Amino acid sequence: MASHEVTNSVQQSIEMGAEGFQADNLDRAHQDATLPLTSLLKVSSYLVAVLDPDELLANLVARVVDALPAVQGGLLWIREQRSGKLRMVSMYGLPLDQATLIDLQRCQLSPGEGLAGQAFQSNEALCVEIRAGYRDAAERISPHNQAIFQQFSETLPRTLTDVCIPLRVHNETSGVIELMNLGQPIGDLPWHPLRPDDIQVLQTFGNLAAAAIKNAQLHAQTQSHRRRLDAFDAVVTAISTATDLDDLIHSVTDVVLGLLPVSAGALILLDPAQARLTLGAHRGLPPDYVAALQSFPVTGAACEEVVRYGQPTLRPLIEERGETMLLEAGLASCAYLPLLAGGTVVGVLGLYGDSDLPDWVDVATLMPLGNQVGFAIANVKLYEDSQSERRKLNTVINSIAEGVVLCDSQGRLVLANEAAMALLSLDSVPFQQPLSEMPDFYGIRDMDGQPLPVERLPLARALSGEVFHDYRVLLRGASGANSVMSFSGAPARADAGDIEGAVVVFRDITNREKLERAKDEFLAIAAHELRSPLAAVRSYADLLLRREQQRGEADPNDLRGLTILSQQVTHMLRMVDNLLDVSRLDAGQLGLQIQRVNLVPLASQILDQQRPAALTHELVVRAEQPELWVECDPLRIRQVLTNLVGNAIKYSPPETEVTLCLGVREMQPSEVAAAGEPPARSEAPQASSREALVAVSDAGAGIPHDQQARLFQRYYRAGGRRTEGLGLGLYLSRQFVLMQGGNIWVDSVEGKGSTFYFTLPLAEPA
Ligand code: ADP
Repeated sequence: MASHEVTNSVQQSIEMGAEGFQADNLDRAHQDATLPLTSLLKVSSYLVAVLDPDELLANLVARVVDALPAVQGGLLWIREQRSGKLRMVSMYGLPLDQATLIDLQRCQLSPGEGLAGQAFQSNEALCVEIRAGYRDAAERISPHNQAIFQQFSETLPRTLTDVCIPLRVHNETSGVIELMNLGQPIGDLPWHPLRPDDIQVLQTFGNLAAAAIKNAQLHAQTQSHRRRLDAFDAVVTAISTATDLDDLIHSVTDVVLGLLPVSAGALILLDPAQARLTLGAHRGLPPDYVAALQSFPVTGAACEEVVRYGQPTLRPLIEERGETMLLEAGLASCAYLPLLAGGTVVGVLGLYGDSDLPDWVDVATLMPLGNQVGFAIANVKLYEDSQSERRKLNTVINSIAEGVVLCDSQGRLVLANEAAMALLSLDSVPFQQPLSEMPDFYGIRDMDGQPLPVERLPLARALSGEVFHDYRVLLRGASGANSVMSFSGAPARADAGDIEGAVVVFRDITNREKLERAKDEFLAIAAHELRSPLAAVRSYADLLLRREQQRGEADPNDLRGLTILSQQVTHMLRMVDNLLDVSRLDAGQLGLQIQRVNLVPLASQILDQQRPAALTHELVVRAEQPELWVECDPLRIRQVLTNLVGNAIKYSPPETEVTLCLGVREMQPSEVAAAGEPPARSEAPQASSREALVAVSDAGAGIPHDQQARLFQRYYRAGGRRTEGLGLGLYLSRQFVLMQGGNIWVDSVEGKGSTFYFTLPLAEPA
């Protein structure tokens, strides 16, 4: 554009691309000096090579200005993402003083504001030739930017040419590059305005620059994403290698602070039970603040909202929140990030820095990191808690005098206390040892000295779901001698009820066993010696009683005395007989006289015999049929029935009913094989062959469930010694029933009553 076309005032010639451009007036002589394409190409190759967006934005204008003799200075305006306005990010070649430069950096141009704003809004290149000052040319400046632009224009020459090239990439304009010819001659040539072709070339270059900037920004985003991933990696490594909570929080604090451009940080742990926070780890905090932060209530804490709502905060430090010490230490901003485990706050990560901390720390993107650390803290705490519980449990288990052994669902040992180790003569627990190896390893035998099948091992029984007490086996001790061990066991069930292991408790009862044997021998001898005199006493007592009854005017006192004498001697004789039976059983000398017996009349007889002793009880027989023939020894079955009915009377309140039911039931083949063990209730009445079933029920106090399994043991008496008896009746009953091919068990509900059942093989029809 020739100088004569420009008026002396605010003459602007706004060229949109090549429009209105006076090509004819161009001085071809200066063609080479205006826009050397080759130079711009060099700048382009620089642009594509630079991947750092900051470097690109800082150097772009300088490179262009250096490449183009037609321009001597320029500015780069970039659109801010949030406001959509232009902000000056770099300047080159303009004679601006520092203050003007800073002011210019602060100002934002709305679309349409100033020359750059106009090019930005129209999205077209703009070339303006100015003859009377830039200020006038930039007339569309909003009032709050007026002062800055006046100051700016005053530093510029009054005559200049300004070219604004929008930076277009895809469908958006990311900024404007503003280039100026400051009216200086080029070499010996006077300044010549840009030609339409040049504008076109510059616009193409602008598009390229925009693409390069976008590319670099994307690259930077990728890099920052990668850095974040690296940060996660570093945190995950710190988490996974931490040995305890202390180690975890210190390494996490180190890693996070190493990754973020913050000056100080603190990892604060929450104790939800106490609603208190404690300082776990810290870096770069003033010592006074650290001392004050050791333990403090959530209420009123600087990070109270973060703890309560689980949301991060980013804010300037304020005195009202007790952050004076941090302000005095030169810190200005803080970010608090909740550490969450499944939505529950377990702690807070505090980050402290200067006023530009908000530019650097993006709390939202740090949230996943907070979750990661939160989970790790919760896990480590859980682990530490479980370890401490385990230690407590070990202390308790080791203080138990009995041996305690726990196995998993496969029967492999997982725990053995010190007593167990001593009893089993072990130096260390043979973890993972399969059940099948145990009989040989421990020399386990049954009480007859026979090898114990694996399924009869105490652990195997408990694993199969059995609960048992005083299960006696022989164990070979370190000396090679056999010891008698008494085992109690139970399955360990998961919440769902599945068996996930078993526990057995055992003790050495070798001495007790010897004593018991000595006691049995003594009692057998005593019983043997007592039987004849007692029998004689009973005969005479009965004789005297009968005589007294037959006497015309019997003395009631004598009659009562003789009745009591007879009853007591009978009772003593029954006890003596029981003791003798036990010793006969032990010696294998108890023979049976098996014959066909009709149980119905036998049952009625037993009840009739018991009536005098029953007084107020109502004794009832209920038989399904008038006859029930079984194969048994009538003497022994009488004993069993007498004992069961006697117990029912003894252990139930007066004026209640004792019932003796007789019937036939189907039984399972497995029960036949397993005869000798009381079947579990659920197993009881199922199909296949038939047998006689006798049930004796009462409405007494019942027997606690945990004692039921032991009722049939020798000398066992549930509920202490409130009533007279030796605890042999049920033991003998069981032995007799088993010997006759039947089974015996109890079904009792505390407070409601008990029913004792036994079965006998049915006799062939006559
Ligand atoms: P004894 O009756 O001599 O003690 P038993 O062997 O007959 O011995 O019974 C063992 C224990 O079983 C008794 O001490 C008693 O605690 C309990 N028991 C037996 N029958 C009943 C019953 N019908 N009701 C409640 N408890 C009973």
